[in-house]
Amino acid sequence: AKADGRNRIAAFDVELRSSRLDTARLVDDLRRALTDAEFRVHYQPVVDSRTGEVRSLEALLRWTRPDGTSVPPDEFIPAAEDSGLIIPIGAWVLRHATEQATEWHQRFGLSLSVNVSGHQLSDPQFAETIFEALSASGLPPTALILEITETALVAVTGSTATDVHSCLQRLRDHGIRIAIDDFGTGYASLSYLRHLPVDILKIDRSFVRSDGGNAPGPQDHAFIRAILHLSETLRLSTIAEGVETPQQAALLQHMNCHLAQGFLFHRPMTQEAVEHLLAATTSG
Ligand code: C2E
Ligand code: CA
Ligand code: CA
Ligand code: CA
Repeated sequence: AKADGRNRIAAFDVELRSSRLDTARLVDDLRRALTDAEFRVHYQPVVDSRTGEVRSLEALLRWTRPDGTSVPPDEFIPAAEDSGLIIPIGAWVLRHATEQATEWHQRFGLSLSVNVSGHQLSDPQFAETIFEALSASGLPPTALILEITETALVAVTGSTATDVHSCLQRLRDHGIRIAIDDFGTGYASLSYLRHLPVDILKIDRSFVRSDGGNAPGPQDHAFIRAILHLSETLRLSTIAEGVETPQQAALLQHMNCHLAQGFLFHRPMTQEAVEHLLAATTSG
């Protein structure tokens, strides 16, 4: 039994070491991805579900390795955060997406949403990075939305929280809007929200989807209603994420939640596909 235990520890050790090696390799690959231009940005429209009209576009990072395999962001963003590479990667996304979205804003009045990780928020240069991207692209600050997950916001505490909140306030003073992403999953309290400089709540997909059903279940109903009520009280706008079925869309409309995003309307798409979509919807 003793030898057995030792073997198990040895196996665990090997596993731990190889996972560290994997992480180190992933970080090297991410560094190369940035210099060798292996990243792309795709865009997923946010629509008015009553008319299908596109209101804004969310930038979503894509990575294709030289061998043609693509790695989903949920798999590489954590390593990018832990290694600090999220700072230059995030700056690249901002530069690239604002550059592409400026024309969409000029021609169609659309806004751009960019996902921002908690590590970027805590970077003292963060606001400057944003202002640089805006002035380089010509995108007005009022056309930019920054999405920060509820979990990331709640995780900043103490003096860092004060810095982060005053940074968000400064960005908002310039007209940039702040959205709380994955809302409902991060335990932000009411009093916390009341003092947070934000504009938009994005209702997490898990409330919209419900367990395998086509429409949210009765409990999810109550959650969505509660979030909508909260939004109204705080005078925020609300976007429902992950709408996949007509039933879900109808229910959200019934609850007076009209901004929606999800595969039912559009999947994330390339810059060219966005251009086709916009040309098609405005020529008709
Ligand atoms: P998120 O910000 O919550 O983005 C929404 C995710 O849900 C996207 O996955 C999108 O493709 C997916 N999605 C949209 N509609 C539907 C739907 O109807 N059904 C289902 N099942 N999924 C839907 P994606 O692109 O894989 O991104 C995953 C996460 O990675 C994002 O979640 C975001 O947290 C993070 N991420 C993506 N790009 C960036 C970035 O540039 N910077 C940072 N910091 N994080 C990013
Ligand atoms: Ca998002
Ligand atoms: Ca989300
Ligand atoms: Ca998410």
